[in-house]
Amino acid sequence: MELAQDQIRDAVISSLDSRTKPGHFTVRRLSNSERVLAGLKWWGISWAIALAFVPFPGFHFVLPPLFLALGPVAFIVGFRARLRIENGRSNCPNCGAVVEFSRNRYRERFKDRCPTCLHEIYVAFESVH
Ligand SMILES: [Zn+2]
Repeated sequence: MELAQDQIRDAVISSLDSRTKPGHFTVRRLSNSERVLAGLKWWGISWAIALAFVPFPGFHFVLPPLFLALGPVAFIVGFRARLRIENGRSNCPNCGAVVEFSRNRYRERFKDRCPTCLHEIYVAFESVH
């Protein structure tokens, strides 16, 4: 079994007008059991949504069967994620304020919002060879 390990990954944080700041993230490779748990969590959420709509007339012939069917798909989506961002830190390229990133699914690029100036910021990980 592959061991879970933390890696420090550098990223470029950019603003809409192309100003940039460096960012540093801790990314963790998930173990197989964590990936199964993540898949089961999403399957459970899907079926919980299905159950929640059972009492509502007009919805209960559509949404419960749909979300019951989506359960295994949700499992696969949760299971496929191999990396997770544990935390990250940078400065906003727009206002310079410290921006902390919290735990999230790893993506090569994603968009977030500066909590201070509320401008959109774009995070792009530098490719690892
Ligand atoms: Zn800002």
